[in-house]
Amino acid sequence: MKHHDWFKKSIPLIASENITSPAVDEACVSDFSHRYAEGWSGERVYAGCTFIDQIEDICMDLTREYFNCIHADVRPVSGVVANLVMYNAFTSDNNGKMCCMAIVRGGHISHGPRFAKSGREIFGTAGTTRGINVEYLAFDNDEMNLDIDASAKVIREFEPELLLFGGSVFLFPHPVKELGDVAKEVGAYVGYDAAHVAGLIGSGYFQDPLREGADVMTMSTHKTLPGPQHGALVSNREDLIDKLRSCAFPALLSNHHLHNVAGLAIAVAEMLEFGKEYHKNVIDNAKALGQALYERGINVLMEHKGFTESHQIVVDITEFEKTIGLGGDIEKILEKANIILNRNLLPYDIAQGRHYQNPGGLRIGTSEITRLGMGKNEMTDIAELIKKLIIEKKDPKKIRDEVIEFRKEFQEIKYCFQTPNKAYEYLKFY
Ligand SMILES: *Cc1c(COP(=O)(O)O)cnc(C)c1O
Repeated sequence: MKHHDWFKKSIPLIASENITSPAVDEACVSDFSHRYAEGWSGERVYAGCTFIDQIEDICMDLTREYFNCIHADVRPVSGVVANLVMYNAFTSDNNGKMCCMAIVRGGHISHGPRFAKSGREIFGTAGTTRGINVEYLAFDNDEMNLDIDASAKVIREFEPELLLFGGSVFLFPHPVKELGDVAKEVGAYVGYDAAHVAGLIGSGYFQDPLREGADVMTMSTHKTLPGPQHGALVSNREDLIDKLRSCAFPALLSNHHLHNVAGLAIAVAEMLEFGKEYHKNVIDNAKALGQALYERGINVLMEHKGFTESHQIVVDITEFEKTIGLGGDIEKILEKANIILNRNLLPYDIAQGRHYQNPGGLRIGTSEITRLGMGKNEMTDIAELIKKLIIEKKDPKKIRDEVIEFRKEFQEIKYCFQTPNKAYEYLKFY
């Protein structure tokens, strides 16, 4: 109860989070959470799956439509599990090879090797669970994106089996076409981890990996795509479908959290209906918040590119080290004022001697505040509140009262079916 109360009175800015609609919630808290349905729809290993199959079929139909593709597997129970399906399909059982973005540049721990170059054990998922040898692509700190020429060289020299795009710090579309062509020269598959940007892609903004050369795209279903916590994998490669299916079940899954499949069906329907408007506003708000913070003297990265083309912005707060501290310190101060956001490693932090516990950056996302109905004016209000805390060093307890007052107007979830019945009406046609 305390948690719920706190989050109704806060400004939620974590880029990997979002909130679900009442219709999605009804599907998720249902009898489906008591049931099992191993296998593919129509080929189950359990009885009692009549309606579960119908719902999963609908969920796959909607997901294929949203991402314009011929294969959607909605069984992976999270983004990491969807990545494991992809690793199973595309890398060797022993000494597999993958190229991806470095974790300190915004890559995800699920892409990581077991050991860092230094020999230190870091237990990245790809290395630890699948024994994959990981070579990092080159990154251009000034553009906050992969360096195409230098990365092409890495791919030609390392000859990976899988080239993986995507990450958790993700401001600009990755060069899927350019580097995907190089990957194909060396016989590698191309994967795209859309955990963060799936909603932006489905609604037609950002980039379109399946058209740009990606063989598969994996995702979490709860970041810019505002569904329940779950995962999915999509592809347009007819010849890979059987393999991809088997690499999910039986290779990795038993039960696949049927209540979340039901919730996901509704969330994807909502995005087919409201996603164009929602995700345009998410991106506009991210740019507006970047501009508003920048004008107030806060060093938002990538001003020369309009700060971002996604739902997130990255802020360099190293100039405040002497006055109020670094990312970890600032995260705590803002949390006391009910502004919830994440510290984040900057691409140059490690080189400059900073650590992920207290890095030089913050990552700020606009998916959830947009869903609560906030727009450009509110981005200015939020920038002002952050300025009061970071630059003017105002007492967080005082600012918290302002945050609670500010949030009172924004209690309803937008861009969704307002009642479960509206959702069911829509789904009837599938
Ligand atoms: C969040 C994230 C994941 C993990 O997703 P889960 O659904 O939490 O398992 C994977 N890859 C990237 C790039 C992410 O940002």
